Amino acid sequence: MTDLHRLSIREMAEGLKSAQFSSRELTQHYLNRIAKIDDRVNSYITVTAEQALAQADAADAVLKTGNATALTGVPIAHKDIFCTHGIKTTAGSKMLNNFVSPYDATVVAKGKTAGLVTLGKVNMDEFAMGSTSENPFFGATKNPWNLEHVPGGSSGGSAAVVAADLAPFATGTDTGGSIRQPASFCGLTGLKPTYGRVSRFGMIAYASSMDQGGPMARSAEDCAYLMNVMAGHDEKDSTSINKEVDDYVANLNGTAVKGLRIGIPKQYFNVQGLDADVKARVEESLKKLEDMGATLVEIDLSMSEAYVPTYYLIAPAEASSNLSRFDGVRYGYRCENPTDILDLYKRSRSEGFGAEVQRRILIGTYALSAGYYDAYYVKAQKVRRLIQQDFLKAFENVDVIAAPSAPTTAYKIGANLSPTEMYLGDIYTLAVNLAGLPAINAPVGFDANSLPVGLQLIGNYWSESQLLSIVHQYQQNTDWHTKRAAIAEENA
Ligand code: GLN
Repeated sequence: MTDLHRLSIREMAEGLKSAQFSSRELTQHYLNRIAKIDDRVNSYITVTAEQALAQADAADAVLKTGNATALTGVPIAHKDIFCTHGIKTTAGSKMLNNFVSPYDATVVAKGKTAGLVTLGKVNMDEFAMGSTSENPFFGATKNPWNLEHVPGGSSGGSAAVVAADLAPFATGTDTGGSIRQPASFCGLTGLKPTYGRVSRFGMIAYASSMDQGGPMARSAEDCAYLMNVMAGHDEKDSTSINKEVDDYVANLNGTAVKGLRIGIPKQYFNVQGLDADVKARVEESLKKLEDMGATLVEIDLSMSEAYVPTYYLIAPAEASSNLSRFDGVRYGYRCENPTDILDLYKRSRSEGFGAEVQRRILIGTYALSAGYYDAYYVKAQKVRRLIQQDFLKAFENVDVIAAPSAPTTAYKIGANLSPTEMYLGDIYTLAVNLAGLPAINAPVGFDANSLPVGLQLIGNYWSESQLLSIVHQYQQNTDWHTKRAAIAEENA
């Protein structure tokens, strides 16, 4: 079969269970596609062909016994920020190019228990800091819709593998938009769960109070399958919440939109830099939801001007602390011939980290230093609380909040935006992480250059099932999520 990669996750799982094809055939199919196509996309850092085929054979044996779980034998790609036992985990950094984890991240372990087959580890912005996946060490990942454009970031490899059909779905992480923005740039569905819903154990830390893993796939239904694997309490992560997990697949329904009150923040649609095509597509999708029975309600999110400065203080502050462990002694890259311990630290860190990571460490260290702590870090924490309260007040009157996921479509590779221009591109995603809320991106059409546009829906805490259901119902009434880039139409 040449078109296995066109199946939805549900169809793939059904095909495996009814023995229309084996996990080995399916896995080999993806490995062939990777071998033929990924030279042009540059999405995989590591392809684990041998292990994948062994896992596929094991899955086929389980499938024969009739003891298979919902996803036994389905392939997946993991963002290279999740530790994988025995397989290199780089976090997209030269610093960790030689790091092989002695254990699996909880998300990876859960995937194994569910019978998923790991195809490999995919590219990202270094340590998840960035929005383009133009990685300084592993090279730029390309947007499958137009290879001259970026796939977004930091989970750009995860988005690119799905959009090019080099994996049926992928894990991503989102600290300030890194699931939603690449999903938007690549025409995919991506869910950033409530903080604490998915374990961070074994996920290399960027900004621990905001980092959250989640699924990236073509449809809300596909994401629901992966959420069923990823979500849940983990005693190895003290910030993971001990709260019953929904069955996200069983909860998908066709009744989520009727009567739904969608908040439209008046500050969000007049932002300078909001692309006219993006605005138009998002408004069309909201009109569609209105036709399906939703009510649009104007709301006030008066803290919106504070999102970018608040996030870009707190995230670097946490990053500077988290990344202090990479010192050339215990992990990863070590400079050659250090003259003394200080020289070892200095050169290992300046040779091992790329420019953006160094910039964040410098900003974060500055914000946390004795004379500036109160003026910057403490103040940002106070503003963070106000941003959260802004959302909670809005949710007294609406069920979800709509926004673009990004003000533009995918940038050109090498556009070389200044750091502040780049940070402004995160305007629509950061507040969700500051507040710990869940949010989803859904593809809603294309701009004049045939690049995808995404709608973001922000929900109240623990509303993942609701967000997935709204997008699922939207996708049953539209076909944007079924559109494929030309490169995905190629056969291996
Ligand atoms: N672009 C944002 C940043 O650079 C978000 C990244 C992320 O969510 N990991 O920090």
